[in-house]
Amino acid sequence: MLFEGDARGGGSPSRAGVTKVDLVVGFLGAGKTTLVNRMLADGLAGERPVIVENEFGDVAVDGDLIPEGEAQVRTLASGCICCTLRGSFLDCLDEVVGTLAPSRIVIEPTGLANLPDLLAIVRDASSRLPCCLNSVTSVVDASCVAEMLEFAGDFYASQVRDATLVALTHTAGLGAPELEEALRAVRSLTSCPVMDVDAAGGLEVLAASEAALAEAASPGAWGGPLPGDGLGEKDGEPRDSRGHDERCGHDAHGHDAHGHLHAPGGFGSFSFLPGRTFSEEDVDLLLEGLRRVRSGRVLRAKGFLARKDGCGLEHVELAAGGAGHERSAYRGDPKLVVIGRGLDGDELARIVGAEPEP
Ligand SMILES: [Zn+2]
Repeated sequence: MLFEGDARGGGSPSRAGVTKVDLVVGFLGAGKTTLVNRMLADGLAGERPVIVENEFGDVAVDGDLIPEGEAQVRTLASGCICCTLRGSFLDCLDEVVGTLAPSRIVIEPTGLANLPDLLAIVRDASSRLPCCLNSVTSVVDASCVAEMLEFAGDFYASQVRDATLVALTHTAGLGAPELEEALRAVRSLTSCPVMDVDAAGGLEVLAASEAALAEAASPGAWGGPLPGDGLGEKDGEPRDSRGHDERCGHDAHGHDAHGHLHAPGGFGSFSFLPGRTFSEEDVDLLLEGLRRVRSGRVLRAKGFLARKDGCGLEHVELAAGGAGHERSAYRGDPKLVVIGRGLDGDELARIVGAEPEP
């Protein structure tokens, strides 16, 4: 379903040998990985794209949610590719575009990435490498747009403002008034096309997003002066003229995002490798516990927990809009990442029943 804006037109003209760079951005838990998976399932896998998954915490989950064989996945963990991992991200682009030269590279940054900085990095890379920015899809959880806009303010808005297309998720449970309210909130930020991911296919979203960029619907985002500077330094040199370190500051329990320049302060990520097993009821209790923490607010939890019945792992997801779990085909070790604001690691450890990974 295309709510507004004519985004048809068959995508951007791409030159032979030039790798298309597609960004799939959005706040924590909006549904970015799910959308990337839908793109792959709808036929993108046939293009043999490279997917770059960036995760804020030490323990990476998103890459494991992409079925094996669908795409080559590169994971950049323990930081943010728009700042603390900028150098690693540039190296990754060098390697992927320069060596593998896929027709397409799909980049999923963390939910805390700053989109203008990310755009500057991609534009810088495309001046050196045979690649070009092809689409910027901002994934928005329709069930909590106004709430998240209030919670994360201009940072949240910036992830929507520079997008070529807004992909609404979690619309299925919404009534017409709620959906209208979500659209109104999105419309207050951007006039780009808006699509309902539940109604459209993944490829349809991608094609509409690239067509919108090709039409240069928002020249301010693409033609203006580049934000940021100091791009392109190699290892051992400053990555960021604003004095950012290679790693976000640590506290006793995990990554502390206080030092992150873009997101509002107090964001932190905690990683756990739970050794215990979980019944259905245990998983529900865990998710309920995370929703009701006293110390701050959990915005995102994701991972895989060992099932008590011995039948592999349970994939758990929690976001601002809701929580759920299901059996997973993933065969690795159990792990859980919890991201939020003002969180206390000791409290989380009690809820999870495992010590945080240092
Ligand atoms: Zn960043």
